[in-house]
Amino acid sequence: MKYRLRSIFSSIQGEGRHTGRPATFIRFAGCNLNCPWCDTHKHTREMLTISEIMAKVGKLGNRTVVVTGGEPTVVIGLKDLLQALKKGGYWLALETNGTRNIPEIEMFDYVAVSPKYFYRSRYAEETMVRKADEVRIVAEDEVMVGFCRQMRARITASDYFISPLDEQGKIHYRRAFNLMLRLNAKPKTGGEAPWPPWALSIQTHKVLGLK
Ligand code: SF4
Repeated sequence: MKYRLRSIFSSIQGEGRHTGRPATFIRFAGCNLNCPWCDTHKHTREMLTISEIMAKVGKLGNRTVVVTGGEPTVVIGLKDLLQALKKGGYWLALETNGTRNIPEIEMFDYVAVSPKYFYRSRYAEETMVRKADEVRIVAEDEVMVGFCRQMRARITASDYFISPLDEQGKIHYRRAFNLMLRLNAKPKTGGEAPWPPWALSIQTHKVLGLK
C-alpha cells in the first residue's frame, strides 16, 4: 500500500514546547477539515510505501519524527507505519486537529492538538481528542476567548499555546498576542487567572525561513 504525502523533510520544530528541536516531518496530504486559510493538505506530491518512507526518514538522520498534515488521523494504514517507525527507534510526535480520537494516538510519544475555531461545532462532538501533551490554538480571531476556554476545559494537557494565523504569508502576531492577554486576565466575575498561563507560540521555522 502507498501513502499520500505532501512531503518528508528535515527542519526544526517551530512551535510549542519542543520549539527549536531538530526533527523530520512526515506531512500527509488530505484532511477531514477545510480551513479557509489552509492549502497544506490539498496537494499530493508523493505516493510512497512504508519502506520508501523509512528510507527517506533514515536518510534525514533526525531521531525526532513529527507526523503532521493535512490530518494524520484520517490516514489509512497509519498503525502499520507507526509500528515501523517505533521499531526504527524514533521518538514520535503527532500534530492533529483533534476531531478524531483514534486508538493509534496512544502510539505517539507526544501529542499536540490544534482545535480550529472555524469548525467549532465539531469540537462539541464526543469523538474529539480529550487528552494531549499540548494544545495549540491558532488565533483566527481576537474574540475567540470563549472557544479557547472551552477547549482548555475539554482537553487535558500540560501546556496551552496561542499561535498567530498565517494568511498567505501575512502573519497576525498582534492578534495572537492580544488573544493571549485576554485569556490570561483574571476573570471579572472572580476566580483565578489560568495556571499554567496561556503562552504565545511563534512559528520559529518561518522566522528562520525554513519549511
Ligand atoms: S485542520 Fe489543519 S490541515 Fe486541515 S484544513 Fe485546517 S489547517 Fe489545514
